[in-house]
Amino acid sequence: METKKFYITTAIDYTNGNPHIGHAYEKVAADVLARWHKLRGEDVFFLTGTDEHGAKIAAAAEKAGKAPQEFTDEIAAKFQKTWQNLEISPSRFIRTTDEDHVKTVGEILQKIKDNGYLYEGEYTGLYCVGHEAFITEKELVNGVCPDHKTKPEVVKEKNWFFEVSAFTGDIKKRIERSEGDENGEGAVSGGLKIWPEQKRNEILSWLEQGFTDVSVTRPNVKWAIPAPWDPEQTVYVWIDALINYLSGAGFVLDRGEFERYWPADVHVIGADIVKFHCIIWPAMLLAAGMELPKEVVVHGMFTVNGEKMSKSLGNVIDPNGWVLKYGADAVRYLLMREVPWGQDGDVSEEKLLARYEGDLANGLGNLVSRTTNMIEKYCDGQVPEILRESDLPESALSPLQEVGALIEELRFHEALAKIWESIAWANQYIDGAKPWVLAKTDLKKTREILSLLSAHILAVAHKLAPFLPHTAERMRKTFESGKIGKINDLFPRIE
Ligand SMILES: [Zn+2]
Repeated sequence: METKKFYITTAIDYTNGNPHIGHAYEKVAADVLARWHKLRGEDVFFLTGTDEHGAKIAAAAEKAGKAPQEFTDEIAAKFQKTWQNLEISPSRFIRTTDEDHVKTVGEILQKIKDNGYLYEGEYTGLYCVGHEAFITEKELVNGVCPDHKTKPEVVKEKNWFFEVSAFTGDIKKRIERSEGDENGEGAVSGGLKIWPEQKRNEILSWLEQGFTDVSVTRPNVKWAIPAPWDPEQTVYVWIDALINYLSGAGFVLDRGEFERYWPADVHVIGADIVKFHCIIWPAMLLAAGMELPKEVVVHGMFTVNGEKMSKSLGNVIDPNGWVLKYGADAVRYLLMREVPWGQDGDVSEEKLLARYEGDLANGLGNLVSRTTNMIEKYCDGQVPEILRESDLPESALSPLQEVGALIEELRFHEALAKIWESIAWANQYIDGAKPWVLAKTDLKKTREILSLLSAHILAVAHKLAPFLPHTAERMRKTFESGKIGKINDLFPRIE
């Protein structure tokens, strides 16, 4: 049987500023899903990257006294380094300045144009550079963009427009019938699933109201990809960015690989960009005669101590600082444990420290430390036999058995809660069995207890691997090797 493929993408981050904890949340979540599917033996392609064109980036580069390419090279490198530090391992890190991406954008737009879905028109209205998007009068508060607190530019210019309205009916049908009825009957092929349900309903109601056509090219934006058929125009940065999902899988570089992975199984995105991903992007694909992604999953936005992160408030959290102090696995744990999927997240160093000391050091770290120390003391570092996972009692095993399904439903925080339920079982088991007392009278029984605990730790490591790759690997290596050495520093005390 051919190996099942799994193509997962994240949003690509805009390179006008440094990576922050909100970017990290999305990438960790996608990495957890990618690792889980790899563990299941699937052929996984995991794409992330950076979005590097547009007037806003040109302006940021100018402010920094750099050429745009030089500027984005530096920021893109910071993103890559940050993902490495967080043990996020994409199959490819795509940059929208990559040559093959630039070619892909030209080819796809030309195709949409050849198919008759682009037309010339004049755009008159408002443009928010902060958003890199057109904005309506209705959306302003006291004459300024409510998010950027800046007055939008008044724009009157020639654009090429994309006829989104030609596809809204089809897209609506594909979303509504992506899964069919409760028995899966009547599901349309090429259906588009949107999760969570609330986002799906929002999109459906936008589609019902009718969706206006969008500009795909603009004049006067120099730091952008030229429109192949009109040298006066460049491709609008959002349209350019969406196409990364095609170029990233090898649309130009390796068509065979592209054919294998497309359509994407999951696009992981934030709540601020659903219209682009659930309406404009599917419309572009349909206009180009291509298959739609199977699913778009939407996470909430991030705040810090209840406030929106912003440079002006000075509360932007750089995940690298936390990784240095607490380790990548602790930061990954915090992000996945603290924020239920789809809800807005709020994190702080206090929360990280509490999770670190409570769940990680006192929960998991303590279990591994006690067990390995007793194995050294009572078994000379070697348990007689590591039992099978199925030998574990129900109360230890059944929470672990729920983890896979929870990960696939994006209920990461519940998956981790289940793993920790099982860890708590083991710590209580040790407290009750008191092997250090038992060892004085019954060494055989003591060793049996330690064999069971070893099997348990291996089972926990297996479920933890997508979330805490480094920790899980250390646990696995220790317990699978013949000689089990003491581990007292899984989560060392933070000074
Ligand atoms: Zn704005």
